[in-house]
Amino acid sequence: MNQLLSERILNMATSATLAMAAKARELKGQGKDIIGLSLGEPDFNTPDFIKEAAKQAIDDNYNSYTPVDGYAELKKAIIDKFHRDNHLHYTAAQIVVSTGAKQCLANVALVLLDKGDEVILPCPYWVSYADIVKLSEGVPVEVKTSIDTDFKMTATQLESAITPKTKMVWFSSPCNPSGSVYSKQELRALADVLKKYPNIYVVSDEIYEHINYGTGHASMAQFKDMYERTITVNGVSKAFAMTGWRIGYLGAPETIARACNKMQGQITSGANCIAQRAVIKALEAPPSKVQYMIDEFKIRRDLMLNLLSEIEGFSCNIPEGAFYVFPDISSLFGKTFKGKKIANASDLSLFLLEEALVATVTGDAFGNPNCIRISYAASQTQITEAVTRIKRALEG
Ligand code: PMP
Ligand code: GLU
Repeated sequence: MNQLLSERILNMATSATLAMAAKARELKGQGKDIIGLSLGEPDFNTPDFIKEAAKQAIDDNYNSYTPVDGYAELKKAIIDKFHRDNHLHYTAAQIVVSTGAKQCLANVALVLLDKGDEVILPCPYWVSYADIVKLSEGVPVEVKTSIDTDFKMTATQLESAITPKTKMVWFSSPCNPSGSVYSKQELRALADVLKKYPNIYVVSDEIYEHINYGTGHASMAQFKDMYERTITVNGVSKAFAMTGWRIGYLGAPETIARACNKMQGQITSGANCIAQRAVIKALEAPPSKVQYMIDEFKIRRDLMLNLLSEIEGFSCNIPEGAFYVFPDISSLFGKTFKGKKIANASDLSLFLLEEALVATVTGDAFGNPNCIRISYAASQTQITEAVTRIKRALEG
């Protein structure tokens, strides 16, 4: 019998974050008291001023197909945002609005990669990068980092990963899952390497830009010599608590933006009309409007780090941004808890789900098999309860 499904889908991994969230939801549905710290999504409501704009858009009869690359007013708000927050100057022809930053990333991979082109991914990287690259027939090239370098790729590591087939470098800062933030100097050091390789492009995923507890955000495209070679990806899911609204956007050299527009025109068309109208208001607002969420995330980060420091075998970097901790738990490998042997990070993540009723994600999904990812986008009560349960499960 002929195989029904394509090699393409058979070779693709299921998104580990979404799979774990689905599993946690299923167990919850069976009446289990699961604390879900697997999915990276803010637990806040979308701010009222954004919700009002969406209601208004419905009443104003925004119901038609939108321009494929986004409403002109939204593109203007994005141009102004890039200018205000990142000192980046884009024209409307360089902006594409998509159904989430995930679609921006897929568009970029599909329009830039040919079979066998290599994409350098500093590990740990966000779960979908490798599979989006593979879907586009590219080859992910992992650059291993560890907790000792705050999970950041150095210039030397970048240079040694480059081959004649390297087409792009993809990374997120603040990083999902490590929370690491590249400083301007660190980005400059990477750019200095890339200066020697003018055909390599950079995808700078800045979706956690505002969720930053440290010294501030730097964008790769801010460097004049990188501007023409950088695709800046961003979105409203995280900073504005709008994960389900599905709006992301990118700023890129015009040729690349036009190609993304063409790709999107054959696959999904323009993003949702009501959500786009609401996002205009979100992006026009000063970032201070959502600072209350960032302040709360910082309190939760500190709480999470404090509580985890009491558990033997959990070794954490201090995440400067995003809302995850990424403890190295490799010292637990080979040990047995409650009769279950923990051989690797997946075993631990499953053990914590079954024995502590806490959902986390294995580090394998992010290219680092020594770690697990725990989201702290949950209430302080839930965080405290979750870590107490983890501690108890690993005690006896
Ligand atoms: N990039 C990173 C680093 C993320 O964590 C996410 C979260 N899903 C995305 C991109 C995609 O975001 P969205 O599609 O919700 O805009
Ligand atoms: N970015 C989130 C995460 O990493 C959302 C889930 C997803 O889109 O994979 O958990």
